[in-house]
Amino acid sequence: MRRVYLDHSATTPVDLEVATLMMTYYTEKYGNPSSVHSFGREAKQALEEARNQVAELIGATPQEVIFTSGGTEADNLAILGTAESMRKKGNHIITSAIEHHAVLETCEYLAKNGFELTVIPVDEEGLISVEDIRKAIRPETILMSVMHANNEVGSIQPIAEIGKLAKEHGITFHVDAVQSLGKLPIDVNEMNVDLLTVSGHKIYGPKGVGALYVRKGVRVSALVHGGGQEKKRRSGTENTPGIIGFGKACQLAGQRMAEDAMNETKLRDKLINGILQRIDYVKVNGPSGEKRLPNNVNVSIRFVEGESLLLSLDMLGIAASSGSACTSGSLDPSHVLLAMGLVHEIAHGSLRFSLGRQNTEEEIDYVLEQLPKIVERLRMMSPLYDQVIHAKQA
Ligand SMILES: *Cc1c(COP(=O)(O)O)cnc(C)c1O
Repeated sequence: MRRVYLDHSATTPVDLEVATLMMTYYTEKYGNPSSVHSFGREAKQALEEARNQVAELIGATPQEVIFTSGGTEADNLAILGTAESMRKKGNHIITSAIEHHAVLETCEYLAKNGFELTVIPVDEEGLISVEDIRKAIRPETILMSVMHANNEVGSIQPIAEIGKLAKEHGITFHVDAVQSLGKLPIDVNEMNVDLLTVSGHKIYGPKGVGALYVRKGVRVSALVHGGGQEKKRRSGTENTPGIIGFGKACQLAGQRMAEDAMNETKLRDKLINGILQRIDYVKVNGPSGEKRLPNNVNVSIRFVEGESLLLSLDMLGIAASSGSACTSGSLDPSHVLLAMGLVHEIAHGSLRFSLGRQNTEEEIDYVLEQLPKIVERLRMMSPLYDQVIHAKQA
């Protein structure tokens, strides 16, 4: 059966060059980077090379990069680590309504444990207003956490403006850049970011590895204690193959960024326009043009369930994702779409396609050929759609 992967915001395949390099560090250069012998030294050297590669992609110095087990841990380290180290200064945290669960749940955990939390709303395109953040700042605000680009609707936030605000007020600024890394230029200095989360498996690197950028001088308490690796901020023997693969993936992402973005933007617009032309009662979620990630398509198709769409697409080999948190067993609509003001019923019929390096125009044509047929079939079973059609005819 034909298979078309359009779920790159969930994860990406590991680049062959990355996987090949990693293999060496599993089977040949397997030393512990803390060991003093030659095996340890060669692992250590490669580890530091990877640190350079990650740092370079975000405009940081290598000393400011702490490797973690992924984006989730980096988000936790940023938020919990700041909360602990800054507690004497204040207990107020600002975040946005459309953050990844790794940020939102961590902030909510703190809110249950003596911290005050302000959650900034978004507009109907999924964009945050800098003015809203300015108004939320209090003397006791210690941390602001705002994502660079949203994983569901692709909205790109005004990070540099928010960073300026944070700097003016002496507030630590954390940015989850998991979705924007390798897709948009990132410069932690130009953007005035203090803490930045990145992850390997969203950029053609391995799963289970990520990093937190920590600006020199910014204090973050450790969550994991032990052997003192990563300058005591993240103990545990380093995942050398993973980290080295992540470094390589960063290098490749930097080299390919402009080309990838150009190709994906083209496919994105082809898919969006094609859906709008072929299917009625469709709403595009998220911003248009420059304020949208090059690889994100998110649409609400009325009178159908997102889950039914996904299953039907999957039977044709097309992998997409829906806004519902179906993984948790519930069918709650996405908190992101609800925050953008979508009513439950419309949020339920939403579908995300996230494009990647290997996708082709031909694959988009295949989706555009199949999706309208699926929608028509599902709508035939919808009593609501039936009513609308009859109302129109009457
Ligand atoms: C995937 C993702 C994460 C989590 O990263 P993991 O490496 O999977 O733990 C965090 N934030 C955003 C925006 C993501 O898309």
